[in-house]
Amino acid sequence: MTTLLFSHPASLGHDTGPGHPESQARLGAIDQALTAEAFHDLKREASPRAGLEPILRVHPPAYAAAIEAAIPTKGIAYLDADTPVSHGSWEAILHSVGGGIAAVDAVMRGDADNAFVVTRPPGHHASQTNAMGFCLFNNAAIAARHAQAAHGAERIAIVDFDVHHGNGTQAIFWADLSVLYCSTHEMPLFPGTGAASETGAHGTIVNAPLAPGADGFIFREAIEAVVLPRLIAFAPDLVIISAGFDAHWRDPLASLNLTEADFAWVTTQLMEAAEHCCDSRIVSLLEGGYDLVGLGRSTAAHVAALMGSGYFSPSTGS
Ligand SMILES: [Zn+2]
Repeated sequence: MTTLLFSHPASLGHDTGPGHPESQARLGAIDQALTAEAFHDLKREASPRAGLEPILRVHPPAYAAAIEAAIPTKGIAYLDADTPVSHGSWEAILHSVGGGIAAVDAVMRGDADNAFVVTRPPGHHASQTNAMGFCLFNNAAIAARHAQAAHGAERIAIVDFDVHHGNGTQAIFWADLSVLYCSTHEMPLFPGTGAASETGAHGTIVNAPLAPGADGFIFREAIEAVVLPRLIAFAPDLVIISAGFDAHWRDPLASLNLTEADFAWVTTQLMEAAEHCCDSRIVSLLEGGYDLVGLGRSTAAHVAALMGSGYFSPSTGS
């Protein structure tokens, strides 16, 4: 497998203020984890700066302009109680979006089998017109629309294993036959959506809520019974992963009990499905993950699995 890693130092410029869980330190934890010997051959590229055009395929111009206008010259401004922006946030946003787009370009052109993008701020709670839950622009939705507009992809599947439901992604694609959205998430939990009965206007929304305390066994059962059959039946041209690692047992914002081995396992399952459906094309975008140790280990397990390295065995927990 050829795996590309996209990141950009501009992500560090998104300052969420003291004590905020979606902190700049998350990037250091990921960088540190990816210095291990297993990642010596991982190809790395800088996430380019996106223009507005791909963003406007998902978000209306007035919304994009309002976000840009909300960026303060100094200090921190709050779009809602959870969602701050600082002077460096706009560049962080554009490079996060741009990383997703470049990853789609690389994978759709066949320059890489798959790619992981260190996107920050995350995106899956952002709807067309609403920033919330640390998210401003929906990176996964923008990447999906780019794959369709620039590469002629007809069907996109977005699989979201962040511990929170991706209400923004669900809202964007609620009535869209060309995009399958599948989510596992803890419920009840922020943002409150994601019941199994929420299936979209055409049945292309697939929610598999998990009860608080659910462990890897229950998670794997949900992936096998609910997500994988729908993913394979949909036969996408590209699989996008909303890769949040806050379902890790150490995470302070939720109470699922996954291990890094579970993240390696689900990654491998999605790769097998993608091999079957779409020549292995996967673009994975970072969403949440707020315990620095759990985030580092889980990202490493996920990326190692994408590389097909077998470095982290899905069968062993830790
Ligand atoms: Zn989350």
